[in-house]
Amino acid sequence: MRALHLAAEAAPWVKTGGLADVIGALPAAQRDAGADARLLVPGYPAIVRALADATPVAGPFVAPVGQAPCRLLRGTYGDVPVYVLDCPWLYRRDGNPYIDASGAPWHDSHLRFGLLGWAGAQLAAGALDPHWTPDLLHAHDWHAALACWLLERRPGPRPATAFSVHNIGYQGLFPAWTLEDLPLSRRDWHPGGLEFHGELSFMKAGLVSSDGIGTVSPTHAREIVDPSTGHGLHGVLRSRGDAPVGILNGIDTRAWDPARDPALVSAFDASDLDRRLPNRRALRAEMGLDADGARMLLGMVSRITSQKGSDLLISVIPHLVEAGCDLVVLGSGEQALEAQLRQVAARHPAHVAVHIGFDEALSHRFFAGLDALVVPSRYEPCGLTQLYAMRYGALPIVHRTGGLADSVDPEVGFLFERPDAPAFGAAIDAARTVFAQPQRWREMMLAAMRRDHGWQRAASGYLDWYRQLMACAPR
Ligand code: ADP
Repeated sequence: MRALHLAAEAAPWVKTGGLADVIGALPAAQRDAGADARLLVPGYPAIVRALADATPVAGPFVAPVGQAPCRLLRGTYGDVPVYVLDCPWLYRRDGNPYIDASGAPWHDSHLRFGLLGWAGAQLAAGALDPHWTPDLLHAHDWHAALACWLLERRPGPRPATAFSVHNIGYQGLFPAWTLEDLPLSRRDWHPGGLEFHGELSFMKAGLVSSDGIGTVSPTHAREIVDPSTGHGLHGVLRSRGDAPVGILNGIDTRAWDPARDPALVSAFDASDLDRRLPNRRALRAEMGLDADGARMLLGMVSRITSQKGSDLLISVIPHLVEAGCDLVVLGSGEQALEAQLRQVAARHPAHVAVHIGFDEALSHRFFAGLDALVVPSRYEPCGLTQLYAMRYGALPIVHRTGGLADSVDPEVGFLFERPDAPAFGAAIDAARTVFAQPQRWREMMLAAMRRDHGWQRAASGYLDWYRQLMACAPR
């Protein structure tokens, strides 16, 4: 089985969220399961630097996307072959995949990800690497979706295509005129095609043209076909007839191992929870709180957005401080919410501390030092922070939605049913009650740490799905 993953970000090089964690781990897990899984990613500066010994496979050639001169390079990460789409004009920039260094969205994202989709389709069709053609292309999120559309329209045999929705709220919508810049034609512009309420939708390209659609948890697979939670795409999804496949993400248990984590002041595991305590003290001190404070330490590691319920967190802060908890927050996102968080924190300097920014090592110290992690997301396709928290002995307090509902239960955490402040506050109170009973809390920590969230189960689930798609796809 040869599978090509196509994605806009990949840990450890370029990460803005969970997509990168998945792409950094799933191909390796599939190789462990015997598949020849590979990856194609844009040649951002960090990737070109990290894979400095990558060698040219194709090019230079001029892509039919902004007449961009490109090369295809090939390097390896661990034992995963990684194709790098080297196009300095579009990718060699500071900033992250979606926004520039000032925080504004890139003006030419349609070109950046149009090129990625085009190159993914070419490589998958055997037109770029004469020595390797996949049996299946797995396109992740809207950034990669055009590859499915272009492959489906290519004459001749083609590999099967799988399209994964990692976040249905981000659909890659662009003005109609951008069609002219892309290797598309007027014939692609119709309601059954790429047009979506007068705009060009990359996400829809993946949804209508791939051989199979998946998402990152079974509950979210049901949510996206429901009008109230389908973000406007439930009709497109339902029109296919086949239900989306939901496979819960795993975590990279090598990168996220409290017994061997260089970011921590004290390594620990479930056999010796006392060795976790220095991490709690160190985190409190690092965040400017009293290191020896005994109040329950809640935390959040997240994009700061309304999807993630950052506004709900802000509204419960007075309650949780009053109830005897402390709070630390690591995140970045919407500026208005960041400012509100800072203001509320300033009102409770002894009990609330906020670090605005993206800091991978600090996120590890959060999971190792918190008593409980809050995840009040309005919707959450899978969510990874609750999985990291459990592995590191911090109990999750989560809204019962998407992958949170599939990964947290009362044996290992606390759930609330509605994304509103009273329900969230009540779940925090419930956690406080258990926290006041150290033996019970400890039992929950141990149960959480012993859950297996490794990639093995999901990696073979994906390979089974690929086999079904290959059996049905036109060859
Ligand atoms: P999403 O992909 O929707 O942002 P996930 O929970 O699936 O949410 O994945 C988020 C990933 O990004 C996790 O690995 C989390 O630890 C990480 N993360 C989020 N915000 C930060 C931050 N400010 N600093 C470091 N890591 C972060």
